[in-house]
Amino acid sequence: MTQRFAAMDASNTERWQQLDSAHHLHPFTDPKELKNNAVRIIESAQGIYLTDSDGKEYLDAMAGLWCVNMGYGRQEIIDAVSAQVQQLPYYNAFFKTSHPPAAELSALLSEVSPGYMNHTFFTSSGSEANDTVLRMVWRYWDILGKPEKRVVISRKNAYHGSTIAASSLGGMEDMHKQGGIIPNIVHVEQPYWFGKRCESGADLDAQQFGREVAQSIADKIEELGEGRVAAFIAEPIQGAGGVIVPPESYWPEVKKICAQYDILFVDDEVICGFGRTGHWFGSELYGLKPDLMPIAKGLASGYLPIGGVMVADRVADVLIDQGGEFNHGFTYSGHPVCAAAAIANIKLMQTENIVETVRESTAPYLQKRLRELSDHPLVGEVRGVGMLGAIELVEDKDNYVKFDKARGVGIICRNHCFENNLVMRAVGDTMILSPPLIMQQSDIDVFIERAWKSLDMTQQSLA
Ligand SMILES: *Cc1c(COP(=O)(O)O)cnc(C)c1O
Repeated sequence: MTQRFAAMDASNTERWQQLDSAHHLHPFTDPKELKNNAVRIIESAQGIYLTDSDGKEYLDAMAGLWCVNMGYGRQEIIDAVSAQVQQLPYYNAFFKTSHPPAAELSALLSEVSPGYMNHTFFTSSGSEANDTVLRMVWRYWDILGKPEKRVVISRKNAYHGSTIAASSLGGMEDMHKQGGIIPNIVHVEQPYWFGKRCESGADLDAQQFGREVAQSIADKIEELGEGRVAAFIAEPIQGAGGVIVPPESYWPEVKKICAQYDILFVDDEVICGFGRTGHWFGSELYGLKPDLMPIAKGLASGYLPIGGVMVADRVADVLIDQGGEFNHGFTYSGHPVCAAAAIANIKLMQTENIVETVRESTAPYLQKRLRELSDHPLVGEVRGVGMLGAIELVEDKDNYVKFDKARGVGIICRNHCFENNLVMRAVGDTMILSPPLIMQQSDIDVFIERAWKSLDMTQQSLA
């Protein structure tokens, strides 16, 4: 309380910084670093631009946190939310009841997804979606009389959320160190060619590497015994792990393995879904055939929290016809206002043909211009697909030598980006972008100019 009153005379920015520093614990942040008013207050946003409390404008190349796909300030979503909050702000789906937004949204999701995906279980986030995945996978095999099929195979550096189950499914070591890992989840190698190339110090054929990493899934199944393995879970492109675009050989090989063994394939579409790759879902980009698809982020462009698990007919038929009660759900499963936001968002995507525009025009232009950054002395690799990109910074690009982690080069670069009116995220020393899908070519030109300038300033800081 002393902080609160002490702050009353300060400028708005200082006041919010002081309140925040005194009372707000931030996700994935060292709280010590937020002392001394270090936090930046974002106060408003329009289109692809954020404005902070001092009036400084930033191009938001992260779409918030991979989610504001249709951009800020979209009147269609705002109107739908405000109408629904007046009509019916809340009701549940537990008591053999539903409401128009949940019914409409589940049908709309079935329309925009592959033909064999016709049911959705709603959650409020991607983490809850992956918790639901685990319960559903186990339930599925229980119903089929194979309760010993329990193990889920995931990948190192995967991100599937931050609840205990979701972080266990994820492959983030730092999270496991603090949160532990629940039984029956194992992790295999990720298809991160550039990282491996730097580590190995030798030439490394990307396609050969892709096949070997895929084979490690089959090896793990053999090691455990097929009778114990319930599912394999993966993001089509690892997002938070550093936008890891796998070598072309990877997914075809994984597909064969998933078909060869009787296991479920869980395709985490929380980032790749809703147009990010130039397709409605990342599974379409790689021709994957998922059994379960956790979704969230782009579903309502982040306007309100909503996620879900889309369920393929193969699994839905078992759960519905043979399962009995599924003892699982959330107070806010299918929340009417969040569902209304998602409906308005998806309809906006449809009327603006955003998926086609991304695939045919915006993404090819972004990817082309992004590759120009490869010429910068700090840039070891540029990779990306659709509206996802990564710029990996290295000490010696000719010899594939990464920076010493302790130098915090990614954070230095991120700070220069902020100075230059640009938001990019640093994952280690990799700069990540996942901009709103509504970006135009002229916006991409602005992005490249600011990114290049930030790289130059990073290089100067390191000298
Ligand atoms: C963000 C993310 C999640 C978790 O979603 P939350 O809404 O933050 O709980 C799960 N999977 C992937 C691939 C993600 O990127």
